[in-house]
Amino acid sequence: MLDDALSVEEADEGVVAGGPDRGELHVHLNGAIPTSTIRQILADECTVLPAGFDFAQDLVRTTPCLSLAEYLRPWQVLRLLPKKRENLDRLTLAVLEGLAENNVRFVELRSSVLYLATLQKCSPAQALERLIVTTGEAAQRHGIRRGLILTVTRGDYSAVSLASLLEAYQDLGEPRDVIALDLAGDEEIAYPAELPSLFRNAKDKFGLGVTIHAGETGRVENVRTAVELFDADRIGHGTAAGKDPELLELLSAKSICIEVCPISNRLTGAVPPSEAHPLQQFRRYGVPFVICSDNPAIHERGLADDHAAALAEGLSIGDMQQQYDLAKRYSFIKDLT
Ligand SMILES: [Zn+2]
Repeated sequence: MLDDALSVEEADEGVVAGGPDRGELHVHLNGAIPTSTIRQILADECTVLPAGFDFAQDLVRTTPCLSLAEYLRPWQVLRLLPKKRENLDRLTLAVLEGLAENNVRFVELRSSVLYLATLQKCSPAQALERLIVTTGEAAQRHGIRRGLILTVTRGDYSAVSLASLLEAYQDLGEPRDVIALDLAGDEEIAYPAELPSLFRNAKDKFGLGVTIHAGETGRVENVRTAVELFDADRIGHGTAAGKDPELLELLSAKSICIEVCPISNRLTGAVPPSEAHPLQQFRRYGVPFVICSDNPAIHERGLADDHAAALAEGLSIGDMQQQYDLAKRYSFIKDLT
């Protein structure tokens, strides 16, 4: 009992902003921009909002949504910014400030460079360079190590998009700032048959990590495909795997880390209200996992809140104390001390 009492106190200390050192392995740059900054940028860029978009209701997601489409409604606006170079600097600084407030010591930021190139009317290589410079400066200012993950969106053009991103990466001399590739987007949408081998080739050729959003919408086969075809090192969400013992054993045997985003999983409905979060299954089967925040500003929360949510979902204080070391172990950023 004494241990339990002590644990609760420690938990309380741990969940306030600040608290213990943290590593963030799954956060989308645009999903981490404070809403006040989004409003300022939209006004500055004179962006016309989509018809019927209601700032008060549609820009944040704080209660469980009925569908993933409903959860993704803020992106109707998020995908419209930043058009100006200085607003990329502005939003990046705000994102890193939010991470610093949550005591994040290192972060892997995901971004859709091709969207950025379109918005900023520049080439993918120029967009990637801007992203490297601006995130590097903002991270340095806050004493945070950062790496960039290049996100490819599922769909017909995913192979072409990946080729464009890799060309930009090579044009810039394969910068160390880029650490991995990510596949994201609607899991129901098909992608070209050659996409998995293109990911594997990039991994072999450039030494980039591979993380795949999979199993968030109940498609357990996408998790298996991520492992067996994409040679994924990590899985984003992976919630569907919790119901497949064979797959859990495979993830454990291959030491594939699940990026668990507890607040997001409840808001998207990836984990229904009536069910326990599969992180307990991950723990039972020895599947490594790291707690992440996904889109903290959209949730009006931060990584510290996700750590608190993980405790509420059944993790122990002991589990939480291992989180920083686990994040370091499974991070694609090299040489973390
Ligand atoms: Zn995500």
